[in-house]
Amino acid sequence: MHGQKWRRATASPIVGAASDEGNESLALGGRTEPATIRGVISDLDGVLYRGDQPIADSVEAFQAWHARGVPYAFVTNNATKSAAQFAAKLERMGVPVTAAQVFNAVSATASLMQQRWPKGTRVFAIGERPLFEAIESAGFTLAGDDAEVVVLGFDYALDYDKLRTAVRAALNGAAIVVTNPDLLTPADDGFEPCVGVLAAAVSAAVPSAVPIVVGKPQPFMVEEALALVATAKSETIMIGDQIATDIVAGQRAGIRSFLVTTGMAHVPVAGVTPDRVIGSLRDLIDEVGAP
Ligand SMILES: [Mg+2]
Repeated sequence: MHGQKWRRATASPIVGAASDEGNESLALGGRTEPATIRGVISDLDGVLYRGDQPIADSVEAFQAWHARGVPYAFVTNNATKSAAQFAAKLERMGVPVTAAQVFNAVSATASLMQQRWPKGTRVFAIGERPLFEAIESAGFTLAGDDAEVVVLGFDYALDYDKLRTAVRAALNGAAIVVTNPDLLTPADDGFEPCVGVLAAAVSAAVPSAVPIVVGKPQPFMVEEALALVATAKSETIMIGDQIATDIVAGQRAGIRSFLVTTGMAHVPVAGVTPDRVIGSLRDLIDEVGAP
C-alpha cells in the first residue's frame, strides 16, 4: 500500500504526489453528499495558517466546532516538529487542541517502520531532531552508509555529506523511506524546496531504490486520525489545500475530501475531483456538528 514511483510524482509542477493509485477517488468524486458532518480531519499548512500567519476564518471555525463538541484531528506532512510542537503552535493561534489530535509525518514514519523492520535495524536518517528522536525511541539504531534503511525527512541543514551517505547506503541496498513527498512547501516569503526534492535526488542516483512514502497522499495518517475522531467515515470529512496530497489521501481513506482555497494555489490532478471546493472554513461552520 505504500509503494510509489517517484518518477510519476516529480511530473507534478508544484506539490508532487499524484500517482496511479487513486482509483477509489474516482468512485467517490461525483457521489451525492450526505448532509451530516460529525467529525473533521484537516491539513495544517495552508488551511489553519500560512507559515506563522494564522488564517482567521479557520481558527474561528475550529473554535466553533470545539464549543459544539465536534471531534477533530490534524494531519500534516511537515516532519520538522513533534505533535506537541504543532499543538503548541495551534494553541498560540487560538485553536483548542492537544498533541494527541495531531498526526504528522514524524510519528507516522516511526509507526510504519515498526511494522516493517525489527528493533535494532540500522537506520541512516536525514531530518530534524524530532525525526531522530522518533526513530530511536522506536528501537532503531542510527548508522551511516552501512544502514539497512535510509529515512529522508526535511532538514534545514541538508548538506553534501548527508546526501552522499544516503546515496551510498542506497547503492548498498538500503530501503528508502520518505516522510512526505512534497516538492515545495509554503513559507512566509514564498516557497521552499521540500523532502520530495531530496528523494528525487537519491532516486536519480539510485533508480533501483523505490522510496516508500509515509505522508499524504498515502492514507496512513488519515486512517490514524479517523481512529481518533471515531466518527463514521460517511460523517467525517478531510479538509486540505492541495489535491495531490490532501484530497487524494482523504479519498483513499474513504472519506469526503474538501478543498479549501486559502493555501497556496492548488494544482489540478487528472482523475481526482474534490468532493467540494470552499473559499473559507466559515462557510462550513454551521454545517458541521449540526443536530
Ligand atoms: Mg497544506
